[in-house]
Order: sequence, then C-alpha cells, then structure tokens
Amino acid sequence: TPLVDIAGVTFRYGETDGTLALSGLDLKVRKGEFAAVVGPSGCGKSSLMKLVTGLMPVTSGTLAVAGAPVRGPLKIVGMAFQNPTLLPWRDVLSNTMLPLEIVRPHRGQLRRKRAEYEAQARALLATVGLRGFEKRNPWMLSGGMQQRASLCRALIHQPELLMLDEPFAALDAFTREELWGVLQNLWMERRFTCILVTHDLREAAYLADVVHVMSARPGRIVATHTIDLPRPRT
Ligand code: ADP
Ligand code: ADP
Repeated sequence: TPLVDIAGVTFRYGETDGTLALSGLDLKVRKGEFAAVVGPSGCGKSSLMKLVTGLMPVTSGTLAVAGAPVRGPLKIVGMAFQNPTLLPWRDVLSNTMLPLEIVRPHRGQLRRKRAEYEAQARALLATVGLRGFEKRNPWMLSGGMQQRASLCRALIHQPELLMLDEPFAALDAFTREELWGVLQNLWMERRFTCILVTHDLREAAYLADVVHVMSARPGRIVATHTIDLPRPRT
C-alpha cells in the first residue's frame, strides 16, 4: 500500500459557502518515493500540504498516511516552508533539536538523551554545510543557510515523510540550485519519502521520481509523469 493514499478529496475553506480549494483530488505516493506536486499559484498546493500533514481536516474523501486515516497533526512528518520559521531566541543547534523535544513526550528522557540528540543534530548540520554555525542566531544567516537549517530541523526526528512547501522559492537562482544538491544528498542518504510542492518545473524534474501536475478551480491532480532520467541511487 502507498505511504500516502488520497482518494476523492474535497477541501473547502470555512463553511459551505467558503472557497472550494480542492475537489476530486487523487494522489498516491509510494514509500521511499520523491514526489513533486507542481501547478500555478492558487491551484491548491499549500492546501494539499496542510491536509497531508494533518493541520486541517479534509471536507470529504479519504486521506490515509502509513495506512491510517489522518485525524490530526502527524508526528511521522517533517515539514519545511518557503519562510524558514526558525526561532530567533534559539541558536541553530537548538532550533534543529526542537522536533525531538516535541515528539519525545518525557522530559526526563529528553534530559538523559540530550548528549545523544545533540550529537545527531551536529552531524546532520555538518552534512548540509553548517558546521561552525551551530551557536549562531539563525536570523543572522543568509536565506540559503536558514533553509539548510530548516531541512535539518525537518529531518532530525527521522520522519518517514518529508513535506516541503516551496522551500527554495525565496532564494536566488544560484543558491536554489545549491540547495537542490543538498536536498538530493539528504534523500539519498536517508531514504525518507518526500512530497515537494513547487511551481518550479526545473526543480521538480531535477529532484523528483514522479511529478504530479495540479490544475486550479478547484484544485486536483490532472497529470502524473514519471521521470526516467538515470540518477545516482546508492
Ligand atoms: P497554492 O499553494 O497552489 O498557491 P492554496 O492552497 O494556497 O494554493 O490556495 C488554493 C485556493 O484556496 C485559492 O483559491 C486560495 O485563494 C484559497 N485559499 C487559500 N487559503 C485560504 C484561506 N485561508 N481561506 C480561504 N481561502 C483560501
Ligand atoms: P548559501 O551558503 O546558502 O548559498 P550564501 O550564498 O549567502 O548562502 O553564503 C555564501 C557563503 O558565505 C556561505 O557558504 C558561508 O560560508 C558564508 N556566510 C553566509 N552567511 C554567513 C554568516 N551569517 N556568517 C558567516 N558566514 C556566512
């Protein structure tokens, strides 16, 4: 069975007279797959992302992740957004460790495991090129470096599913392509399932195994393309 299984989903903002953002949306993503969802601004990509992560409930239809219907925010998901949302009162290392504090319920366990978690976070930051930046205020970093840290924060609790909503859209073209390489390396090392929402077709073709195309009013998947380019797999 697919890790993400969406069938006939409708989503309406607000009550019955609210915007119909999604209708008749079907999407399946296999475990370990890198899927991209592309479409014009306003087609419903962010809405889809918020449904899959359990931030909003579907209006109708079925949405299951890892075989279970989504009924609230999922702990097996990591998320990153266009806006890096790093906390300015914590340094880069502490921001990276944040999901561990939230997902692990017992503070005693957190205290006992602090050294282990810190070592994991430092190692992850090093793999994205942030060695030496652990104690920095994230808001003092460039946009590209903030997104590197955001990817680390999204992956530190080893989520099965990584959800990315236009993560590189605010970056200049050069930095953006550098970050494609960073994300691809992380994916090849860790083998999480990824859904990348983007309006950048080159980005989708570069990173994804499968590209799903959305149309607007109301949003749904209208085409699915498998990318057959040979690419490094280890
Ligand atoms: P995308 O991410 O592809 O730009 P969105 O999911 O943000 O698309 O939006 C899909 C549709 O839902 C659009 O018509 C948008 O105007 C509408 N919409 C988005 N957010 C809200 C909201 N909070 N309340 C009402 N309508 C919204
Ligand atoms: P990115 O590294 O994400 O592409 P930039 O192009 O802005 O972001 O950064 C280029 C280089 O400048 C980085 O590799 C880093 O060595 C250095 N740098 C960027 N921001 C800072 C900072 N706040 N403090 C120190 N060095 C920085």
